[in-house]
Amino acid sequence: MSSHLQDRSPTVGRFAPSPTGPLHFGSLVAALGSYLSAKKNRGRWLVRIEDLDPPRVVPGAAAALLRLLEALAFEWDGEVIYQSRRFERYRQVLQQLSEQGLTFPCSCSRREIIASAPQPGEDGPIYPGTCRRGPVGQRRERAIRLRVPDEELLCQDQIFGPLRQNLRRDVGDFVLRRTDGLYAYQLAVVIDDIDSGVNQVVRGADLFSSTPRQVFLYRCLQQPLPDYFHLPLVLGVDAKKLSKRYGPSALITVQNGRQALWWALEFLGQQPPQELAGAAAAELLSWGIEHFSPDLVQTAGQPAPVLSN
Ligand code: GLU
Repeated sequence: MSSHLQDRSPTVGRFAPSPTGPLHFGSLVAALGSYLSAKKNRGRWLVRIEDLDPPRVVPGAAAALLRLLEALAFEWDGEVIYQSRRFERYRQVLQQLSEQGLTFPCSCSRREIIASAPQPGEDGPIYPGTCRRGPVGQRRERAIRLRVPDEELLCQDQIFGPLRQNLRRDVGDFVLRRTDGLYAYQLAVVIDDIDSGVNQVVRGADLFSSTPRQVFLYRCLQQPLPDYFHLPLVLGVDAKKLSKRYGPSALITVQNGRQALWWALEFLGQQPPQELAGAAAAELLSWGIEHFSPDLVQTAGQPAPVLSN
């Protein structure tokens, strides 16, 4: 599987949690998968707090998350990056894209887009291109969108394989800066990964369908792509993606952290030996670094284990 990967030395991976609540099993799987994948290659592993959307940030969540990572023996390289401190950088890059004629202001409301785009797309309604040739309507506050091509884009994922998307047809020109002035995740994540030299993106499969948008942004910015590894979804009780809604059993604490790490190794198909089930976090991570094989990671989502609290 890895044969067609480019030589990435040194590997730079990252874990990029959004501080919108306590760490749950799905985030632990993303932290572990990205950590082992980077460390297995003797690479660097960065932590970036994605506090891009202040209204969604839970005060204290980022600090609690970092304390928990530390308690579980994860060692990150360099300073933790906070998106909330990088708005000026996002503004610069957005301006650069705009000067290249790749963006346009859009005054459509969500309701108008839904009305003119009845088919749901990859991420909400497909933008029908209303303002592509100039803003329609009188509103002053405007989102900034990226013009996307009507062509098939092919993305390669090291776990899930190829993904083909036509951005115009499946997503539409997407938002880089929202009407409220906040920068969009798609823009920030690409700029941050480029600026920190990330060449390996390991994260949950819920973001797989965002990848073509990000790949297109790399193309617009003329930057080399990272390798992508999307990890299987952790399913909640109703077989949907796990989120904070699914009860305390999936929340990670200092007390259940070691047990959760063992389960996360198992979840990633790595078959940790049973004897390691009671081992210290540092020992579990060293075993993981030594044995991690992305070939063993399955694509099918699985339920979260029931963790003691
Ligand atoms: N912040 C995103 C999340 O917590 C992850 C973004 C990424 O890994 O690209 O789901």
